[in-house]
Amino acid sequence: MKRLLRAAWAALAVCLVLSGCVRREAPRERQFLAMDTIISLTASGPAADAALDTARETILSLDRLLSVTDPSSELARLNGGATVSLSDETADLLAFALEMAAATGGAVDPTVYPAVRAWGFTTDSYRVPSDEELAALLPLIDYTAVSLDGGALSLPAGMMLDLGGFAKGWAGDRVLEAWRALGVESGILRLGGNVQTLGAKPDGSPWVVGVRDPWGDGLLGTLAVRDLAVVTSGSYERYFEQDGKTYCHIFDPASARPAESGLCSVTIVGKSGAECDALSTALFVMGAEEAARFRRASAMEFEFILADTDGVVYVSSGLRDVFAAEGAREVRVIA
Ligand code: ADP
Ligand code: MG
Repeated sequence: MKRLLRAAWAALAVCLVLSGCVRREAPRERQFLAMDTIISLTASGPAADAALDTARETILSLDRLLSVTDPSSELARLNGGATVSLSDETADLLAFALEMAAATGGAVDPTVYPAVRAWGFTTDSYRVPSDEELAALLPLIDYTAVSLDGGALSLPAGMMLDLGGFAKGWAGDRVLEAWRALGVESGILRLGGNVQTLGAKPDGSPWVVGVRDPWGDGLLGTLAVRDLAVVTSGSYERYFEQDGKTYCHIFDPASARPAESGLCSVTIVGKSGAECDALSTALFVMGAEEAARFRRASAMEFEFILADTDGVVYVSSGLRDVFAAEGAREVRVIA
């Protein structure tokens, strides 16, 4: 009887401790608009509130530096022809963007902005430029012409930078660094189509991240992940139609035209949010075949989910056990 009582007390104590933990670890959430999208943050643990404050500040301050539409941003002033001594943050991100441009053979290129602007994506007046206009833009799109030496940047006349294909993943990495330093062990960031996870869910199970169906309103499938970024670039995110043709916001730097690679969405899964962000844009431009070849040859470790215009889904082999497709869809696993 005594032993039974002791056991009951022990069980009660365990329950109290557990419920205390659960209460202390109730996830904290915050949403706001930045980087032209909805940002939604969740963190758990004693430092959760501080973590959300820091995250918001980090994201807003990067947005202030990098926005191409805010004329007072560092990047906008640079694009306007001003000589700007770059902040460390912008210089680091630009150096990373140039590295990714080199690694992808220019499929992702931070100098693509003259094209993005000419097609009206940042001026709110969509248009299809003439062939002559595009031919004149091509020499301005060339990451090899940018020389960055510390904070000293030399940008040839007429060239303009756009870090929109890199900034959300970069910001996510900075936020997760800060969260780790604060001792946060469980959290998730959503920056538009970029999802980044820290640890697992508070209950120890993996985060379940939905991948949007590019052809409809539902989900293509779900991914069970921990400590990974899941970044999607889709032609459905931003586009316009003219004369029955659709033009999306992801550009092929080689043609100064919206990419028409046969893909409508690319999801990249990997450790670095910045790398996944750059790769999602790059592989979208490459198309399925080249994307698969690129992954096999690349020193970077990442997995992908590609959805093409014929409704076929390609999943790289490392996601075989973590990706669950919705419905009866044709999924091809490729090496
Ligand atoms: P989203 O911004 O919808 O998450 P991406 O990460 O693919 O999608 O980034 C697209 C943005 O990056 C565009 O809005 C444009 O500003 C810029 N961009 C488009 N094409 C390229 C490219 N080939 N290389 C670098 N940046 C690009
Ligand atoms: Mg991207």
